[in-house]
Order: sequence, then structure tokens, then C-alpha cells
Amino acid sequence: MTFELSDRVQTVPPSGIRRFFEIAEERDDVISLGVGEPDFATPWAARDAAIASLEQGKTSYTANRGKRELREAIADYVADRFDLGYDPGEEIIVTAGASEAVDLAFRAFVDPGDTVAIAQPAYISYEPGVIFAGGDVLPVPTTEEDEFRLTAKALEAAGAADADVLVLCYPNNPTGAIMPAEDLEPVAAFAREHDLTVLSDEIYAELTYDGEHTSIATLPGMRERTIVFNGFSKAHAMTGLRLGYALGPADAIGAMNKIHQYTMLSAPTTAQHAALEALDSCEDDVREMIAQYDRRRQFVLSRFREIGMDVFEAKGAFYCFPEVPDGFTAEEFAEEVLREQGVAVVPGDVFGEGGAGHLRISYATGLEDLRRALNRIEAFVEEHA
Ligand code: PLP
Repeated sequence: MTFELSDRVQTVPPSGIRRFFEIAEERDDVISLGVGEPDFATPWAARDAAIASLEQGKTSYTANRGKRELREAIADYVADRFDLGYDPGEEIIVTAGASEAVDLAFRAFVDPGDTVAIAQPAYISYEPGVIFAGGDVLPVPTTEEDEFRLTAKALEAAGAADADVLVLCYPNNPTGAIMPAEDLEPVAAFAREHDLTVLSDEIYAELTYDGEHTSIATLPGMRERTIVFNGFSKAHAMTGLRLGYALGPADAIGAMNKIHQYTMLSAPTTAQHAALEALDSCEDDVREMIAQYDRRRQFVLSRFREIGMDVFEAKGAFYCFPEVPDGFTAEEFAEEVLREQGVAVVPGDVFGEGGAGHLRISYATGLEDLRRALNRIEAFVEEHA
């Protein structure tokens, strides 16, 4: 017997990134610049708090929206770091990773037939999430010319004026682009003018290397139409603990909680204890990791320039997005550099429109491996380009 799969599931192609991991897994000499995951372990104090919570038998569900203490700590943290004011009682929900928060938002705000504009290149989960929720995706390509920032012009040109929801992610995966306040203003004005709900994925907010991160929710008239996603996976190196959160007006977070309480009940309890400690005492560890990412970023950008590959000045997250040399598609380059030199990178096409002709390079890898990987890429380019 074969299962009757839903149309929604059948519509979504398998992840374009996985194929490269499968090739990479066949050999043991591969240096991976492919994964978007910190190479650091979770800070010790947070791990200790998780262990202690287990020793004390704190293994029950928490409140659906997350431990009150954690929501209070999140409210203080986002107020302090990003000037965001949210009430821990009704305007914050703790989720199983930012991933769950994104999925809840699509299911809470998208009706079948609604249009969700997505600034691309984009994190690979948004488009499937919209399709699973029954919505239609409207890609809004950003370009290297605009430093991969979203512009009102691009929104207009893509027809986003008729969309219902807009998804943006800055600092960006996969480009490493950031959006300073003056560039967010026209996007906010567009959202207000066309009455768009804005979903702003700010999971890389701490990883901003030039100036301070600005949340679009802090701009005039935006708080009431914006949901902000953040979490502990990236800056706090807690990917496997699966903890994120969403911030938004009470009615919106209440709607997301309605889905969450039937599908997830509560985010992982042990991880909530770790996260509380991470916010309480791990700031120095976070600063140290950010300093290391920044050193790697500068090294990787300068090496690509030495190699003769064009690369725009990525200023956030832990990715850069060089152009492939003439004569290759991104897919060909990624496949051949993996086979010939054992370096795994991701072709930009998998991140949607605007990604073609680029590679996503993750520098969430130690400097020594980055050095070796870039030497191998240099050898490959010298031989073929
Ligand atoms: N949002 C973006 C932009 C990401 O890059 C990722 C992970 O790569 C996530 C969300 C998922 O984060 P989490 O581990 O909190 O689910």
C-alpha cells in the first residue's frame, strides 16, 4: 500500500541543502562550510543549569507559553538589547526553537489563498512553512547591488502591495546582510501603507558586526503589526536544546499559543532552565563567541578577495555570500569543489530568487579549518577559472 500524501506535502521539494550533506558524508576528508550551526558548545553555566534541573527532577511540562521566569528574563533581555517592550504575561511565547515560532505564525495568520511575500534569498524553511499553512508564496528578490537589503522598490516591483504577510530576516541567512534603521524605514512605510502583517526573523540579531541591530518592530506604527522571532540557537550556541520565542501583540501571541498548546504543549523544560541561566550569566561567553565570528568573517572576506572571487561585505549572522567565478553555475561549483577538494558549500539557488550565481559560506567553523578550506577553494579556482 502507498500512502495518500497531501497535496501540500507533495508540493514541497526535498531540501536542496541535504543533497550536499549526503555527498559530504560519503567521505571523511571534507571540511564543511555548509551548516548554519555554531561550532561552539553551549556555555558551561547554561549546561550546568540544565543538568541541575534534571538532578532536581524538574522534568514536567511548563506553562504553555513557557516558564514565567524565563518570559520575564526574555522581556528584560530584548528591552535591554533591542529596545523592544513586551509584556511577559501575554506578549511572549517560548517555543521549540524559532522554527516552531515561525510555523505557528504561518498557521495563525495565513488562510488558504493568502499571499505571503518573502524577501529572498531566504532561510529555506519559510517557503515550505507557507505552503504547509495553505498560503501562496510571493518571492521578493533582493540584489547584491542593494547589499541584499529589502527595498520598497523591490516590494513594489514584486507586487507585494497585494500581499497579506511579509517575511524578512535580518541579519540574513544566507547572505549575511543587515538592515540599518534608515533602510528599514521605507519597508515599514510600505507595510503600513499596504496593511501587511510583518514576520521579522531576528534570530541572528546579536550577530551584528557593524553598529547595533534594529528591530523593525521598534519603528513607528510597526509594533502592532509585527511578530519578532528570536531564540537561543545561534548567539547562545544552543541549537540542539531547541529553544526560541516570539514577541508580538497579545491577540497575535494568543492565537499562536492556541496552536502551540494543542501541538507542542510547552517547549522543552530542560532547555528552558538552560536558557534562563544563559540570559542570567552567559553574556561574556556570548560576547566572546561574537568576537570570534567577527574575526573569522574578516578573514573569510579577505581570503575570497585575494582568491579573486567577488564577495559583498557581509555584516551579520555567520555567513558570507561570494559570487561563483564565470563558467560555473553555483550548483556546478558547489558539486565540483566538494568532489575535487572536499569542501562543502551551499549553492545560493536553494535560498530562492536572488541567490543564483552565489555560494553560502558558513564561518561557524574554527579558523584553522577555514584557512584550509579557503586554500582548497583557491586551488580549485586557480585550476578551473
Ligand atoms: N531562522 C533562521 C533565519 C535560521 O537560520 C534558523 C536556523 O538555521 C532558524 C530560524 C531556526 O532556528 P531554531 O534552531 O531556533 O529553530
